[in-house]
Amino acid sequence: MRIFDPHIHMTSRTTDDYEAMYAAGVRAVVEPAFWLGQPRTNVGSFTDYFDSLIGWERFRAAQFGIAHHCTIALNPKEANDPRCTPVLDVLPRYLAKDGVVAVGEVGYDSMTPEEDEAFARQLELAVRHDLPALVHTPHRDKAAGTARTLDLVRESGLPPERVLVDHLNETTVRAVADSGCWLGFSIYPDTKMDEDRMVAILREYGTDRVLVNSAADWGRSDPLKTHRTGLAMLAAGFEESEVDKVLWHNPVEFYGQSGRLVLDDTTAADTFAGNSVLRGERP
Ligand SMILES: [Zn+2]
Repeated sequence: MRIFDPHIHMTSRTTDDYEAMYAAGVRAVVEPAFWLGQPRTNVGSFTDYFDSLIGWERFRAAQFGIAHHCTIALNPKEANDPRCTPVLDVLPRYLAKDGVVAVGEVGYDSMTPEEDEAFARQLELAVRHDLPALVHTPHRDKAAGTARTLDLVRESGLPPERVLVDHLNETTVRAVADSGCWLGFSIYPDTKMDEDRMVAILREYGTDRVLVNSAADWGRSDPLKTHRTGLAMLAAGFEESEVDKVLWHNPVEFYGQSGRLVLDDTTAADTFAGNSVLRGERP
């Protein structure tokens, strides 16, 4: 099983995780910039973190045979802190860098006016930098938050095929499927989605535009949830090619829109042979 985890926070994981992920078939990841738990107090705290995503963590992943990419943004929660919002002015410098394959995570946490503004400004940055966007949906009031998210995406002028709306569940999947955006599902040990509910959604909605991630971070989470979802799909009668589509082709296709995915020949050659994605060009 070949796996691309399109949303995982490796900064908060150990080398044991990297080894277990490689053994389970993970060959590529995207690490979105996010909230670190401890509130930041200044812009320098963001830029040091962004530099570590682009440099140190990428290097660390490579030691374990895993291609690491990241997305850069001011996360929804800290968009409410005036000590943090000036980071919006330094984002363009980071969005120009190799290894940055989208603007994200952007979106709503508590749906405040401050979040509206940071979200809209960052979708505009995605348009201007010709990058896709990774959009987080709130954990509270999810259906309303997702509806408002889709409104804001429509107003942004960013084409839906360049937007991945993440952390979906049974209550939000329909609206996002109808919007033309990509559908992201985070599989957690005890909250949000689990493998069996994910399989039921795949049965109902099919495998097009669907991405599955572990969203593993410093909370209780499992970096092998992508692999476990693949196993649950096979046990439920899905073909290996369908598992490969969800766990490999779809993330390659979505983030390949950045023109910046760099995947090792051995993992990628038979995926998109001859596709410009592999040569770092726009498809
Ligand atoms: Zn996340």
